[in-house]
Amino acid sequence: MDRRSFIQSSAAVAAASVVAAAANAQTKANKAKALDVVVIGAGLSGLRAALDLQDLGINVQVIEGRDRVGGRVFPLQDMPGKPEAGGNTFGGGYGRIFDMCDRFKLPLRDYIPRSRLNVTGLYLQGQHIALKDWANSPLNILPEKWKKAPPFGVADALYHEYQLLTNPDDWYDPAFAKHDIAVHEFFKEKGFNDAQIDLFFNTNIAYGTSSHDVSLLMMMYQEIWFQTMSAVAPVLKAVIGGNHMLPDAMAGALKNEVHFNKNVTGIRQDKNGAEVVCTDGTVYKAKRVICTIPMPILRYVKFDSPLPEIQHEAIQTVPYFPMTQVHMVPKTEFWKDDGQGPGMWTDTMAGWVMANRFADDDNTITSLTAWLRGGMSTRIDQLSPEDGKKMVISEIERVRPAAKGKLESVHIKSWVRDPFAGGDYAIWGPGQVKRFVNEVGKPHGCVHFAGEHTGLSNRGMEGAMESGERAAQEAAGSL
Ligand SMILES: Cc1cc2nc3c(=O)[nH]c(=O)nc-3n(C[C@H](O)[C@H](O)[C@H](O)COP(=O)(O)OP(=O)(O)OC[C@H]3O[C@@H](n4cnc5c(N)ncnc54)[C@H](O)[C@@H]3O)c2cc1C
Repeated sequence: MDRRSFIQSSAAVAAASVVAAAANAQTKANKAKALDVVVIGAGLSGLRAALDLQDLGINVQVIEGRDRVGGRVFPLQDMPGKPEAGGNTFGGGYGRIFDMCDRFKLPLRDYIPRSRLNVTGLYLQGQHIALKDWANSPLNILPEKWKKAPPFGVADALYHEYQLLTNPDDWYDPAFAKHDIAVHEFFKEKGFNDAQIDLFFNTNIAYGTSSHDVSLLMMMYQEIWFQTMSAVAPVLKAVIGGNHMLPDAMAGALKNEVHFNKNVTGIRQDKNGAEVVCTDGTVYKAKRVICTIPMPILRYVKFDSPLPEIQHEAIQTVPYFPMTQVHMVPKTEFWKDDGQGPGMWTDTMAGWVMANRFADDDNTITSLTAWLRGGMSTRIDQLSPEDGKKMVISEIERVRPAAKGKLESVHIKSWVRDPFAGGDYAIWGPGQVKRFVNEVGKPHGCVHFAGEHTGLSNRGMEGAMESGERAAQEAAGSL
């Protein structure tokens, strides 16, 4: 070994022993404190669980793999308007989210007036088609009844028209299990051919990677749940200044500060409680654990007492939605030059380009986001981040010459590549709702599970809060 390598390796050994010593000290401190509950994950579900437990006088410690709280709530702080790269808006019926915003006096704003201009044009097969011309476009191969609907609205309209559930909770009721089929079968039954399904479902896909891998039962649930949310109040709110202010405020109210950079790789348990093992060597010992790790990451966490087969299978197989966003700043309002509007629904590798309005007024466009979903996300993720950003801009410029040289790409965010998410959120495939939805959140010994994927009556941010509330009740009840 030469002198330079020796110095480098000595420094590495010294650094490693400092880390190990710190982890050791933390392990001892955690054992000495005899925690009641350790919560893994400082997203909305984990923070909600921790606050509920703390309110009950229970000694709870949240540990988090990242160096920030919020998880999949993640505004981009260094971009104009701080666009949300994760959880965007919440509907009128998000009672738990509204209560929490109230508790921390967070100011909210309705985003419905800001989303109206999002899509004024379709970009299909290299052509721009204004929405008003879509019904008569030769590219519109939809049946007569659906010709006036924009392609991205057809599936939702079908779920609405043929809704099979009477309330959101029906989706996990075994009486409805027969509807746990691929949406493709449902569209076929309603008379659509494969080309039409490709146009309105698989182009710029909104859920999953194809009409064959998305459960109809999940989509029916999603539709009726949205209806229920907007029946309470027809709004879509977000926190002024960024949704991260909610998890920040929740974490700030915890007596035990969140421990960051605690990447959990194992959970062991015996009759006295559990030990949570992190990559830096820290071991947290507690009577109960609440685990909110998303399933694509949970796949790699070792349980020394094996999970029941069905729960294990769910964690290993339920897909998460592939999603990559490219966030861009327009140098000029180029959409005024070609009159095509700022938003674009395309069949290109730019996906769905949405205009963000996060300024104080409703009209100023602060940035644009290209949403690449399903296979498009997988394809862009194969490129380097820089090449991915370049590709999206060149795709926009190809179909829209007025945008040439007018876009600066600032961020690319792949949720699949995110080592603490592994995807956007759970997309239950055909047959998976009836097999897994009632099983995946069940406690295993002294480990309780929370997180959006275990929400039963709500989805998204509200589902995360619901799951945290439920897991806290379970854990508190068993102490
Ligand atoms: C692009 C996008 C758009 C969305 N839009 C909306 C929307 O408009 N409305 C809506 O309601 N919902 C939306 N959602 C969904 C919503 O953001 C999530 O459902 C919710 O935030 C999930 O919260 P959670 O606590 O379940 O999970 P997370 O927020 O993922 O929290 C889990 C935490 O665990 C941590 N963690 C993971 N692995 C480990 C490990 N091994 N060790 C330690 N810590 C670990 C993570 O870092 C994370 O902080 C969106 C999500 C995305 C990605």
